[in-house]
Amino acid sequence: MLTREEAIEIFMKSKALLTGHYRLTSGRHSSQYMQCAQVLQYPRYAGQLCDSLAEKFAGIQVDLVVGPALGGIIVAYEVGRALGVKTFFTEREQGVMSLRRGFAVNPGEKVLVVEDVVTTGGSVKEVIDVVREKGGEVVGVGVLVDRSNGKVDFGVRTESILKMEIESFDPEDCPLCKQGLPVVKPGSRQV
Ligand SMILES: [Zn+2]
Repeated sequence: MLTREEAIEIFMKSKALLTGHYRLTSGRHSSQYMQCAQVLQYPRYAGQLCDSLAEKFAGIQVDLVVGPALGGIIVAYEVGRALGVKTFFTEREQGVMSLRRGFAVNPGEKVLVVEDVVTTGGSVKEVIDVVREKGGEVVGVGVLVDRSNGKVDFGVRTESILKMEIESFDPEDCPLCKQGLPVVKPGSRQV
């Protein structure tokens, strides 16, 4: 299983985690920037992270791994591969999280719900609702990066590879601005 340091190294090597001086979408400034999709560009890293996430659920029966599109698709696939079980994704249809393409959860199936990044946990909760509505049993939630700062409770066993809260500053009161470092605006809606 990856240590926190090894996981951080993978996120930094893949440029999913950047350090510098960033202007976030909120307008606040930060010395760190996270774009989880960057790490999933590399199958080897995605495999290492998802193997480690799957290992955290060793000993629990899982019949199916489900993640929400788009962020959860690769994570679901890789965790499903590690566990040797079926995997698919949910997606929004007119704004509502749904099972499409003939994907089905059978009553009584034990389902692990996965996602790349959790902040408010909204998408994961919607996937849990979809699974339960079909009679599936949610046995856990696995996420690569937990940015909820402990504020989200899914009511089931939840595991993550990396828990991190990215500190941000009011631009008027930003220590990096005070040092005269130029600020960069990364392109992403994830921040
Ligand atoms: Zn600043």
